[in-house]
Amino acid sequence: MERRYSVAIDGPSGAGKSTIARAASQRYGFLYVDTGAIYRTVGLAAERRGLAFGDEAAVGELLPEIEVSLGYGEDGVQRAYLDGEDVSERIRTPQISRRASDVSAMPAVRAYLLGMQRALASERSVIMDGRDIGTVVLPDADLKIFLTASAECRALRRQRELAGRGVDLSFEEVLREIKARDEHDSSRAAAPLRVAPGAVTMDTGELSLAESIDAVCGVIEKKLGVRACQR
Ligand code: C5P
Repeated sequence: MERRYSVAIDGPSGAGKSTIARAASQRYGFLYVDTGAIYRTVGLAAERRGLAFGDEAAVGELLPEIEVSLGYGEDGVQRAYLDGEDVSERIRTPQISRRASDVSAMPAVRAYLLGMQRALASERSVIMDGRDIGTVVLPDADLKIFLTASAECRALRRQRELAGRGVDLSFEEVLREIKARDEHDSSRAAAPLRVAPGAVTMDTGELSLAESIDAVCGVIEKKLGVRACQR
């Protein structure tokens, strides 16, 4: 039977996790799972119902009534679904980022999404990115990587990414948002953002995207002994 590998990539928002993890997955033919998308999808459901932020009881009642799933298009790109509706673009707004950070602090939400994440990782070799992949979701991952960069550097990247999608926010606004999410994600009691034991920490602040991808792929090849299947 073919050997299956799991790579956990964690870190704060804007450290480049998604772009780097997606590129590395393509390079080795691994499945890429962006777990932030499923928290965002639950956040979108809470937003649509008009629930108050922090209303854990209401979100708990919402969970059995919704269906959150991930799928992959013919191009191999991950899509997120809420009750069968493709919400992949709708979940990428600053408001849904806040919603995702809010619902992700709720233990009921984390428990609800845990099985789904582990099931995805059990199917084939996977690179999964998030906040608690190396600490909670895949504590036995073959390789754990923690990506980071200064808040200013991450805010600049996020501002450019949002501008590319037509969302114009000032650098100060994006920086405030990034710092608030860092604080919220790191200080919560349920699966806070932490460097997993044994994780390789990499600061992408001084690296271009191509350099970051090469650095992460270098670690993957060294630790797992795999080689690129396409470039
Ligand atoms: O990675 P992304 O910015 O899309 O994640 C959105 C939010 O979802 C994060 O701010 C975090 O609060 C939450 N999240 C989480 N655990 C994960 C992935 C994301 O708590 N594994």
